Amino acid sequence: MSAPPVQPSHALLQPLPLDRARLEEGFWGRLQTVSRSAVIPHAVEWMERLGWVANFDGAASGTRYEHRGREFADSEIYKIIEAISWERAHSGPSALDTIADDLIRRVAAAQEPDGYLHTLFGRPWQAPRYSDFTWGHELYCFGHLIQAAVAHHRAYGTRSLLDVAVRLADHVCVMFGPGGLNRVCGHAEIEVALVELFRTTGERRHLDQAALFIERRGTGTLPLIEFGRAFAQDDLPVREADVLRGHAVRALYLAAGAVDVAVETGDRELLDALRTQWDNTVARRTYITGGMGSHHMDEAFGEDHVLPPDRSYCETCAGVASIMFSWRLLLATGEPRYADLIERTLHNIVATSLGEDGRSFFYANTLHQRHPSDDVPLNDDGVCIRGGSGRRQAWYEVSCCPPNLARTLASLGGYLATTTSDGIQIHQYASSTIDAVVAGGPFELDVTTDYPRDGAVTITVRQAPARPASVTLRDPEWSAATRLSLNGEPAPMTLTRTWQVGDRLELTLDLRPRVVRPDHRVDAVRGCVAVRRGPEVLALESVDLPPSWALEDATLLPDTVAAEHGSVVATARHHRTGEDRAVPLIPYRSWARRGPSAMRVWIPEARG
Ligand SMILES: [Zn+2]
Repeated sequence: MSAPPVQPSHALLQPLPLDRARLEEGFWGRLQTVSRSAVIPHAVEWMERLGWVANFDGAASGTRYEHRGREFADSEIYKIIEAISWERAHSGPSALDTIADDLIRRVAAAQEPDGYLHTLFGRPWQAPRYSDFTWGHELYCFGHLIQAAVAHHRAYGTRSLLDVAVRLADHVCVMFGPGGLNRVCGHAEIEVALVELFRTTGERRHLDQAALFIERRGTGTLPLIEFGRAFAQDDLPVREADVLRGHAVRALYLAAGAVDVAVETGDRELLDALRTQWDNTVARRTYITGGMGSHHMDEAFGEDHVLPPDRSYCETCAGVASIMFSWRLLLATGEPRYADLIERTLHNIVATSLGEDGRSFFYANTLHQRHPSDDVPLNDDGVCIRGGSGRRQAWYEVSCCPPNLARTLASLGGYLATTTSDGIQIHQYASSTIDAVVAGGPFELDVTTDYPRDGAVTITVRQAPARPASVTLRDPEWSAATRLSLNGEPAPMTLTRTWQVGDRLELTLDLRPRVVRPDHRVDAVRGCVAVRRGPEVLALESVDLPPSWALEDATLLPDTVAAEHGSVVATARHHRTGEDRAVPLIPYRSWARRGPSAMRVWIPEARG
């Protein structure tokens, strides 16, 4: 049995190792299969072709080489090693193992005698080490290496990459510890990694260093740049902030690491500050899709209620990072709203970004594409040079998102359920096998469902503990009429009893479409409505309109929104001619899968 991706020393809810919460054939199981069979090989192929992996060979050679890719190219290789490791953890040996071995061998060979490992800095012809904290991404890359090493150790049980990571982390402790450089990385990430390394090695210095980085952030140690100090969260100490701000991925990785530090050090004040930041961010700075970060210019959170749908950046990585933040808060507090946001983000950001073939990706996830767009700026290598586009792209110059999807999908099973000594809590509904151990012994559940297409979820007890145990099911915030029965009798969402093999829980979630109106302070969508169905946000796509209609001609009659044979339809009214047409509303994640199209989530309400 391996360890779960996030393993707090103490938490209210215990995560399950990936071999004990396995996805079966179903919506999420299929995405995981696509990731395993396509996203990972595709990413490795691109990173080899573009010379990002060869950077390590150059660094190991000791001779002059031309560094390819951006400052953070190293980190993409690390994220793929992490993804392969989590795949291994739930699915056992595969052809991916040799890919990981090869990458690790090349990475390890590039490590310097003092533990430092980055392919862009420190050689005679390169910029000196630690000469660019704002954009250099050195500690950021270290963080991804450490996360990959923890994953690899937990999945394979060997130390080939873990030893590299420990040497690197020890180098960081020497350089940036008490009495060392009083600096932080311009991109948070090493904090969350160092805590997980501590959880693996038990070496207190790694936790202390993470805590020091968290305390140091916000004290103005980074140079002032055009985006302001908030861009890298260096404007305010973490424990004094009440909302996330600045670059979204930076802010969310930092928040995830800060929760880890708070949990490991028992720092209640810090944890409470992060919970407040989550509340305010979700209430005022988060799109209906779970997307975070409206600014294109600096990939950053806007101010409260600055949520324009046609300028919604919503980077895929911010979605991944939001899930990381929420998951840590869920484990620490047990509060279901964190699982609600994870679900919303999985269905509307993670599942949206990924192309069906596993070889194309959205970097930004707009809520409103005004015109079908096929005009994409590609460089000579065929790589997309801009994050925002109306089409999923094979690869990006800044390709943080595809490997981030791969490691998230590889570890998806871990988000399904948790345990306490007396029971199992199911947070996400997907066909799966939950194989837990509680105080009374092994407790195994089979979950079968066609969710989110269908709201029926059947949970069957396959192995029952000897003593009474509880099963708690999340009642999603959006489900107005959830029903649960045990062996045909109505039952509450938490049941404590002596279970029998074959006991059947039947959950019915309310998937009737719901019309949503925006907060009145979000000026950009005033007068518009959106439609949700279960965890899915729906969208109107131009290919579903009469050819003579432009997308902006369409208004919606909210009272006409209805479910029909598993899909959702509504009446659209042409805003000038008054012509009415029945149109389908598709899951937002499905947009642009039928070719370039215009699309909108927030649709103007028709005037009666
Ligand atoms: Zn990204």
